[in-house]
Amino acid sequence: MRLGLDIGGTKTDAVAVDAAGVVVDRIRLVTGFGPDAVIRTALEGIDRIAAAVGLTPSDVETIGIGIPGQVDVGTGSVSHAVNLGFDELEVGGLLARALGREVKVENDVKAAALGAYHLMTAGVPEGAPRSMAYLNLGTGLAAGLVIDGALWRGARGAAGEIGHIPVDPGGVLCPCGQRGCLETVASGSAIARQWATDDPIPARSLLAAAEAGDEGARAIRSLLVDNVAAAVRVLVLTVDVETVMIGGGLSNLGAWLLDEVKRVLASWAGESPFLASLELDTRVQLVPAGFPAAAVGAALVGAPATRPSGAPAGEKRVATWQK
Ligand SMILES: [Zn+2]
Repeated sequence: MRLGLDIGGTKTDAVAVDAAGVVVDRIRLVTGFGPDAVIRTALEGIDRIAAAVGLTPSDVETIGIGIPGQVDVGTGSVSHAVNLGFDELEVGGLLARALGREVKVENDVKAAALGAYHLMTAGVPEGAPRSMAYLNLGTGLAAGLVIDGALWRGARGAAGEIGHIPVDPGGVLCPCGQRGCLETVASGSAIARQWATDDPIPARSLLAAAEAGDEGARAIRSLLVDNVAAAVRVLVLTVDVETVMIGGGLSNLGAWLLDEVKRVLASWAGESPFLASLELDTRVQLVPAGFPAAAVGAALVGAPATRPSGAPAGEKRVATWQK
């Protein structure tokens, strides 16, 4: 059994994943704010999810944490976790000392990439994709890359940070210091900045207004769709991943978003034989609503990488998680 936690700004998801790669239990907690409260939330989540499957934290194979911010996967220390109320915290070390065992820590988008890849390949017979990009459309925009069944972090952990590719030289200033980053036009924060509303879900209000014929809303909506499509194109052109899976808060826009992004990709293919040859519109999918991708990925962070190509014929890919 492996345990995974996804510590978010408001809630924490905890899952237990069995040796066959199946999520056998799941609980949700409110995340405390500030360093002490975040560690307390993590410990409570680990205790409760272990108890839910009749175990203690020392009995399980691996425990992993997915958390926003910059993560040093070697030491488990986390920096710039603004939404959680700290700038620097030794998350892995503090949890390991409290529990008397190793705890892996990974950036939440990278963990979600692993979780989404697991979902995509679990139980799939020979021919499952070996590579995938997880495109997270949340408050920000970032991607996680899975290459040959393993996370690709890059030399300094920045692989997949495509939200900070500038796409508009005259655009607004991004918190990263550049101007007109992809994230400033295709993310939850981009919508919130451009579309003033009392709706706690600005995207919902934006779509309703666009549907009702509001020209301003329509312009923001097409900027969003065009740039999500541009993000898919960037991911395929840089790493040629087989599939791009879209997740994060904005993916709750569901089939509408997927259809629109596919429509834009298909229209580009109509103008470019090169893009047409890449069949971009057939390579994008949505993570199913409600699937706890980051928590599942966190549970699998300590597991050996899946290498679908190496799986014996007829055996399910998920079996490769078994020790
Ligand atoms: Zn930026």
